[in-house]
Amino acid sequence: MPEFELIELIRRRSGHARADVRLGIGDDAAVLRVPRRHELVVSTDTLVSGVHFPPDTAPEAVGWKALAVNLSDLAAMGATPAWATLALTLPDASAGFVRAFMRGFATLARRHRVALVGGDTTRGPLACNVGIFGFVPEGRALRRDGAKPGDDVYVSGTIGDAAAGLALRQGRRRVAASVRRALVRRLECPEPRVALGLALRGIASAAIDVSDGLAADLGHVLAASALGARIERALLPASPALARVAPDDTRRHTLQLEGGDDYELCFTAAPRHAARLVRLSHRLRLPLTRIGSIESRRGLRIVDASGRRMVPARGGYEHFRS
Ligand code: ADP
Ligand code: MG
Repeated sequence: MPEFELIELIRRRSGHARADVRLGIGDDAAVLRVPRRHELVVSTDTLVSGVHFPPDTAPEAVGWKALAVNLSDLAAMGATPAWATLALTLPDASAGFVRAFMRGFATLARRHRVALVGGDTTRGPLACNVGIFGFVPEGRALRRDGAKPGDDVYVSGTIGDAAAGLALRQGRRRVAASVRRALVRRLECPEPRVALGLALRGIASAAIDVSDGLAADLGHVLAASALGARIERALLPASPALARVAPDDTRRHTLQLEGGDDYELCFTAAPRHAARLVRLSHRLRLPLTRIGSIESRRGLRIVDASGRRMVPARGGYEHFRS
């Protein structure tokens, strides 16, 4: 299929149109209208076959995930998503792949009212880059550097599922089909927490999305805020499916602290917001779990239920030995 026909196919199947797109796909660049008294929030993320997803992943799931991981970045900023660009690199001009890819992409684009406004189509090893554009009222973006000593640390949803899904997908272990489906779904079709991010404006002092693993991502908040945290590993929220495949505490906590790809939000908030967060959790039907506290002393400290310090070790967290 010639390139211009592929682009036309992508345009027709992009899922959502918006009135603030003055000029979309078809010219040299898009022209977009940002609402008054708002700031533009911009991010981009690339998925490379064999690096960010197994090469045999369904094209529909790749399309979904390519947009989802970008929406997740806007969610972590408390931004309202509006527009996206898509740069696709394809080994061959397969209309079948593009149709399936766009089904996944468009489902999520419609749900979050995101218009595809441009991109690039090239030949090469399978990869896709999405650029995402959204807005926040002036000065209201959630950032990594606002945590304060004494703030509570929260995480949304459940964590560790995507890492368990990846292990199942790569290994030969046999588990109940429903458990496997639930975990692989978390890996392939993450749900970006856009509504949560918006609601956290004015509540959260700092936020980040969990893409590289909770320990690493919370570490970025701590570094940006020049603070430390104490996390109680027994408080980490686990799904029933994760509890089934990782009943051993140490194994499960390692997946939860070091596994990536969950795309939940990790955020900090002053203790006086606790009741508001309980109500928000009910309204969004999304668990918001307090997992620890911000402290002045730098560094991330993981403790077990009795308060004993754990340290990361090969194959899991171990009791601290000095
Ligand atoms: P140019 O050569 O001027 O960069 P292209 O031929 O690459 O233009 O693209 C033509 C139009 O199609 C542009 O508006 C571009 O943004 C859009 N486009 C190209 N590829 C994609 C894609 N994968 N997804 C969305 N829009 C695309
Ligand atoms: Mg081009």
